[in-house]
Amino acid sequence: MNQQAWYPIINYDLCTGCADCVMECPTEALVMSGCRPVLIQPDACGYCAICEAVCPEEAIALPYRVVVESRS
Ligand code: SF4
Ligand code: SF4
Repeated sequence: MNQQAWYPIINYDLCTGCADCVMECPTEALVMSGCRPVLIQPDACGYCAICEAVCPEEAIALPYRVVVESRS
């Protein structure tokens, strides 16, 4: 199994670079690289979903949410 698949996925086609996700991430797993957020410390990610919740563009998805919603 690809463990990377269980980290937040950022859709850069939707991302506007507002940095809200980076500012709200409680573990500093996300940082801005230029105008893009990057999951620079995947092992630090607590999978709390705050980044997904605060993104105004719905550009972040946590894979478990995708699975749950696809079955509803
Ligand atoms: S799921 Fe939580 S810990 Fe992981 S990158 Fe998003 S805000 Fe940070
Ligand atoms: S909150 Fe959303 S739009 Fe803003 S930088 Fe993060 S992923 Fe991009």
